[in-house]
Amino acid sequence: MIFFDENEALSQEARLGWHGKRIQEMADRGYRTSRRLKKIFDDLGIRPGEIRSVDDLEKLPVISREKLVEMELAEPPYGGFEDPAAPVDRIFISPGPVYEPHLSETDVLWARAYHAAGIGRGDVVLNAFLYHMVAAGLTFHGGLRRVGATVVPSGTAGTEAQVQLIRDLSVTAFTGTPSFLMAVIQKAGEMGHDFRRDFKVRKACFAAEPLQPSLRARFEEEYGIDTYQMYGATEVGDAAYECREKKGWHICEEVLVEIVDPATGKRVPHGRLGEVVVTRYNPIFFLMRFGTGDLSRIVEEPCPCGRTSFRLDGIAGRVGDAVKVRGLFVAPSQLRKVAEKFPGNRFQMIVGRSGHEDLLTVRMEADKADPGLEKSFRDYFRDICTVRIDRLEFVAPGTLKEGDKPIVDQRTWT
Ligand SMILES: [Zn+2]
Repeated sequence: MIFFDENEALSQEARLGWHGKRIQEMADRGYRTSRRLKKIFDDLGIRPGEIRSVDDLEKLPVISREKLVEMELAEPPYGGFEDPAAPVDRIFISPGPVYEPHLSETDVLWARAYHAAGIGRGDVVLNAFLYHMVAAGLTFHGGLRRVGATVVPSGTAGTEAQVQLIRDLSVTAFTGTPSFLMAVIQKAGEMGHDFRRDFKVRKACFAAEPLQPSLRARFEEEYGIDTYQMYGATEVGDAAYECREKKGWHICEEVLVEIVDPATGKRVPHGRLGEVVVTRYNPIFFLMRFGTGDLSRIVEEPCPCGRTSFRLDGIAGRVGDAVKVRGLFVAPSQLRKVAEKFPGNRFQMIVGRSGHEDLLTVRMEADKADPGLEKSFRDYFRDICTVRIDRLEFVAPGTLKEGDKPIVDQRTWT
């Protein structure tokens, strides 16, 4: 079976209907049972009957992590988002502190991701996520169990102990952060092992930390480990995962992911960069429209794997790091991507104003003005950053320094 369940193959129309139903249920039930959700609705003069569809959801405010912490401090422990009568299996704690009543030990958190990575019965998986206080260890553990894998709950044990477990238990897969796996591999080398030859670890599923392309290439080429990225937030659980195509992250079926303009909370058109906002259909904790602070965009094109969900185009950075040009976000990570294609030409983006318009200038190092280079740079920049360059100035090599900011915002708002 390619898919975890039939929901992964729903038509867009059916999926939209499915989400509409869940949103409606969450609004109705939340209004009745959660003091906070009732207050949010009442303050805005919204009746639960008015939140019936994905489009209606946009009427509600986005709640950032900072806001959630404030609300929980004001109204401990859950900010009033909970149904006080609901049975709670487990309570997790995130820095803040943020308290999260957990829905159930039988949920499917992360299981889609592990399934898509080809992990299942017969696998022995080292789970190197933290097991105490935070949700990570136990929820990833649950996902692995859901797909039938055997779990070694190694948590944050030292690298030497992890190497021993990998060796003694014939571990076939790793889940944790990319940097920790690399540390384990290096320790194995120090202990006299050849990681690829002596061990059976052939898969790794990462979360909580970006996977740099260079590190991914090392895992895959040097160590023969097939790598997958998973994405979520502790407040809302899993949100997206990579399939074998590794071109974007499929959005999980149990959540609604919106990409919004953080200034307005309104959705931006698909393909444009904005803040990732997640609503998880949770029957005990009614946090609707959680703003992750991460920047991404939605990819609509069908994926060759056959899953019909839209995908997220990785994480381009944090909302605060990006600059808005003519209503479009440009993030430093996008500029890095452009820079990879033009390694010989250091450049800097400058945003200024011309009359009432934003003006985007790029200063680029080159020996001489080169119309061919200018055209290919402009085209590629527009592909990646979606915004047009107004002016491209060539400057002599050595003009821009290593530590110069990639984006300079010269606009003053008075
Ligand atoms: Zn796919």
